[in-house]
Amino acid sequence: MKAIAVHPATKSIRAIDAPEPSIGSPTDVRLRILEVGICGTDREIARFDYGTPPDGAEYLIIGHESLGEVVEVGSAATALRPGDLVVPMVRRPCPHDTCVACRAGRQDFCFTGDFTERGIKGRHGFMAELVVDDAKYMNRVPAALRDVAVLVEPLTIAEKGLMQMWQVQQRLPWGATIEAGIAHGYRHRAVVLGAGPVGLLGAMALVTQGFETIVYSREKAPNPKAALVESIGARYVSADDVPLDALGRTIGNIDVVYEATGASRVAFEMLEVIGPNAVFIFTGVPGRKGPIELDTDLLMRNMVLKNQVVFGTVNAGKDAFEAAIRDLTVFRERWPQAVQSLITGRFPMSAYADLLLGDGAGIKNILRIGA
Ligand SMILES: [Zn+2]
Ligand SMILES: [Zn+2]
Repeated sequence: MKAIAVHPATKSIRAIDAPEPSIGSPTDVRLRILEVGICGTDREIARFDYGTPPDGAEYLIIGHESLGEVVEVGSAATALRPGDLVVPMVRRPCPHDTCVACRAGRQDFCFTGDFTERGIKGRHGFMAELVVDDAKYMNRVPAALRDVAVLVEPLTIAEKGLMQMWQVQQRLPWGATIEAGIAHGYRHRAVVLGAGPVGLLGAMALVTQGFETIVYSREKAPNPKAALVESIGARYVSADDVPLDALGRTIGNIDVVYEATGASRVAFEMLEVIGPNAVFIFTGVPGRKGPIELDTDLLMRNMVLKNQVVFGTVNAGKDAFEAAIRDLTVFRERWPQAVQSLITGRFPMSAYADLLLGDGAGIKNILRIGA
């Protein structure tokens, strides 16, 4: 079968002919991969910043944002049927008995670091015509989501982040009282840092939860992303028009920040302007650049005197995948145009090199594996 693989020893990316995987256990399912999304992680792997082949393999088949169609099921994989559309999870558990997270099926919180990730760390990914994996890692997607379901995996980042944010906010004595028919985020203000696919999907999730949502990004408005943001009922603020230290004064109290840029300077500057009881969610993974200067006294004073919580979040559990599938269904009904326009290009498998090594133009670009 055709697959796209990175070869760390020779630092090359190639379309290869890989052996077809076959069902090895009764709980396995076999998928025909339909589409694979490309993100910054894939581009970093293509630059050999990281990415680890499976033990004993010379190459790693990449790709972790995917949509597949079930073509064969093992005798015990009774919940799925050929023809079902599924989005597979990315992380697989570590082998250690002592890791309560992995043993509880929450390898997204693995303690040991010995987890594997399909297409990233120690396990082949989804840029391949066929994939076999255990049915428990599959998330079934309604057929009506076929054209946008490849966005499920990047949306899980926001879903896991927002779930944890609500867990944190249960500390507020009134936090758990939810008025019937009124979304959680009602009367609260959220800022999304960055207008890439993770940020824009996060903005859709925040608007859906009732937040007054502001997307703060470098690019001058008007631009297509700003138009997309306005079309979902959020507000686009360019750093060019409003410097960070003026943002709080301009938009009012900031209750939640969803960071989706990986730019640490702007994130920590943002941390200086958030409001009382605010939660700051980090999702980006910055490259290691030089140290920057920060007003640590101000940050620490604010965090203590304003009850602020800062946390980072990575990967996602089954609950976040299920929430992403539900939310994507909602987004598609509310903003069909905006959701479609997150996918800026669909390309044949042969375009892999341009997409992985090029400048990353557009919002989300997709490789069509089997049509
Ligand atoms: Zn990704
Ligand atoms: Zn573990």
